[in-house]
Amino acid sequence: MSTSLQRGIDTLIGQIDAPIASFFTSCVHCGLCADACLFYTETNDPKYTPIHKLEPMRRLWQQEYTFWGKLMKQVGLSKPVTDEELAEWEPLVYDSCTLCGRCSLVCPVGNDIVYMVRKMREGMVASGHAPEGLKGATQRAVELGSPMGVTLNTLMAHIRHTEKETGLTVPLDKEGADYMLVLSSAEVADYSEIVTAVTRIFHQAGVSWTFASDGFEGTNSGIQIGSSDLAAELVGRIVRAAERLRVKYVISPECGHAYTALRWEGPNLIGRAYPFEVIHIIELLDQLRSEGRLRTDSVDETRMTFHDPCQMVRRGGVIEQPRNLLKQVAPNFVEMPEAGVQNWCCGGGGGVAANPRAEPLRLQVFSRKKAQLDAVNVKTMVTSCSNCRTMLLDGLEHNRMDVEVIGLTELVAEHLAPEEKSNAD
Ligand code: SF4
Ligand code: SF4
Repeated sequence: MSTSLQRGIDTLIGQIDAPIASFFTSCVHCGLCADACLFYTETNDPKYTPIHKLEPMRRLWQQEYTFWGKLMKQVGLSKPVTDEELAEWEPLVYDSCTLCGRCSLVCPVGNDIVYMVRKMREGMVASGHAPEGLKGATQRAVELGSPMGVTLNTLMAHIRHTEKETGLTVPLDKEGADYMLVLSSAEVADYSEIVTAVTRIFHQAGVSWTFASDGFEGTNSGIQIGSSDLAAELVGRIVRAAERLRVKYVISPECGHAYTALRWEGPNLIGRAYPFEVIHIIELLDQLRSEGRLRTDSVDETRMTFHDPCQMVRRGGVIEQPRNLLKQVAPNFVEMPEAGVQNWCCGGGGGVAANPRAEPLRLQVFSRKKAQLDAVNVKTMVTSCSNCRTMLLDGLEHNRMDVEVIGLTELVAEHLAPEEKSNAD
């Protein structure tokens, strides 16, 4: 057995905790998780059944932790996990799982398959079986601070542009600010208009905020590839920046897995509680709206719908807030079928977008999103995750669909009422 395979198997065995053991024991093989996963529904291939994606780990659990499994192993009647098998499973664990959580939602015995896939990925990385694209993104995150290679210079260019365009100051490293804003790689690289939108909104609302020069990027490749150590290192950079600036809140960016990593997994990853709270940008905007601090004076009459990002809506519970904001500025907003917690994934979360090998499958399963969109006949799709936004644009282009995709924060900023004297400095 190669050293890397031994390391991978040891890691996988080490990942089998009480919840994993109970999930494998509880599975009644009903197949409901298959019907919840777009990789199965859009291909009809049984290998994409969510629980099947965990088969090597299930066998290790059986062999190491069950009476009959141990006995079978002792008498040489159990099937060992091999390098060839892990190589065969790599596309099932990485290319065909976006960690969207739809399967976990429907499982009648409550098996959290996202939790299991995350654990499985830990073993896959340790054995060397992770997609090259994701390995590259992870390496850039460690070395450059961003999987897409964006740097402080890139952010500074957007800050200068915003200051010139708005006449407002964009705060950087402002100690004692209430809020520290974190962006995703894609927001800095592709959707930098969010810097201007947020600056204008926060100025109007009188929000005390800042960027941190050493913690402005929240994309967490560690969560995606399945390395808790790396995920902890990336979260730790933001935590250290927030502590240095003594902020009360860190604003999670429009990036699903950054939100999950920062808000839900971060304290466990770094082994201690935060001295600040984490809030998604859309939660904050809705809070400002409810306090009468986010004032708009126009609407967009376009017929539009909202794509619910899995991590924010299904797994994060930020469901009503985007809708409250949409109702304020988009009177012709309509819901797609199965919107809300049941929404279908864009197809590119969980590191799938950073994995070029997965692209043909990702575009194939976009047929589910196409069907949702065909049912509502809209001109515009709004979302609040930059990764979803890119995946939706790709899928729409691939299917030659004439639908525009915009970010919710930018949409709100377009309809801000004229400036009144602000409380912000
Ligand atoms: S839905 Fe749950 S119980 Fe049914 S097959 Fe999937 S994991 Fe097993
Ligand atoms: S988390 Fe989503 S993509 Fe992954 S197996 Fe479950 S339903 Fe499929």
